Amino acid sequence: MAQFGTEFCDNFATARFDGKKWLPAEVRALEPLCLHPGAHVFHYASTCFEGFKAYRWADGKAYVFRLRDHIARMQKSATSLHLPVPDADSLAQMVLDLVARHNGDIPAPPSSLYLRPTLIGTLPNIGAAASPSTEALLYVLASPVGDYFAGGARPLKLLVEDQRSRSTEQLGSTKTGGNYAGALGPTLEAKARFGVDQVLFCPGGDVQETGAANFLLISDSEIITKPLNTSFLHGMTRASILTLARGLGYRINERDFTVTELLEWVKTHEAALSGTAACLTPVGTLVYKGSEIPVRDGSGGPNVEKLRRALQTIQYGEAPDTHGWLTEVPVR
Ligand SMILES: *Cc1c(COP(=O)(O)O)cnc(C)c1O
Repeated sequence: MAQFGTEFCDNFATARFDGKKWLPAEVRALEPLCLHPGAHVFHYASTCFEGFKAYRWADGKAYVFRLRDHIARMQKSATSLHLPVPDADSLAQMVLDLVARHNGDIPAPPSSLYLRPTLIGTLPNIGAAASPSTEALLYVLASPVGDYFAGGARPLKLLVEDQRSRSTEQLGSTKTGGNYAGALGPTLEAKARFGVDQVLFCPGGDVQETGAANFLLISDSEIITKPLNTSFLHGMTRASILTLARGLGYRINERDFTVTELLEWVKTHEAALSGTAACLTPVGTLVYKGSEIPVRDGSGGPNVEKLRRALQTIQYGEAPDTHGWLTEVPVR
């Protein structure tokens, strides 16, 4: 299968906000957008998005994972950017209409159909640096994606960055383009200098997250991860893993922790990244102040493996969805 995010279904769902109201949504052929070069998004980064997946089950049906929760998060992002907020039911319908149209394009697990709702400010006004876009375009892309772990779940290597920030106090929990632009420089630099996969941003020693995934400390009995505040993106994978772990008897400890604690923890326990794309991925090595520090023996660990399976078996329809996380895609 093509590289993650580079293959698209040949339809997308779109809806426009004309300054007063949302116009009826439609599913239509995927084509380039026609936008005014002065559109707010190009100059003032009025944009946010979501990312989640639809899975094909062995019974032939398709299910979207945590659809309503992702839509609620998108509404939160839109609100924080002062963009027109999409109606939850209408956006859910847009997603389900698009997925239903491409039911036949959803590959079997561990592959899936990745869905990417996107909201952009389209008001043509290059003098609107300090005012919101009153017009907007909402669209949903669908992209068949393969197994992130094709070729094995290689434990990741992270640079521990204890100075620079990934985002800001205002936008840390908003899924908005500018955050990724900000993390790009430090990440490219770290890749070139230290050969790492990602940067773990820990400004002032406060362990937060990487450019696009949450960070968790995991032992045989406990999970430690940051409490929900505005400094980081509140991942649905993080929330799902914590819920499942609680049910499996792990103690869930949502609290701040420092780089010093992190370095002590990884001598004997596991660490992982969580996100829709890669589910729960073991961290094998940290790079801090120029030296490499293995997480345990560097090969990942049984608890990360167990928790990832617990989530994936629900997503793939191999274990019961007792939390009501999956929405069945109607057959059309
Ligand atoms: C999307 C994202 C995550 C992961 O969120 P999920 O809902 O688990 O996919 C974590 N951090 C950042 C910065 C993100 O953009």
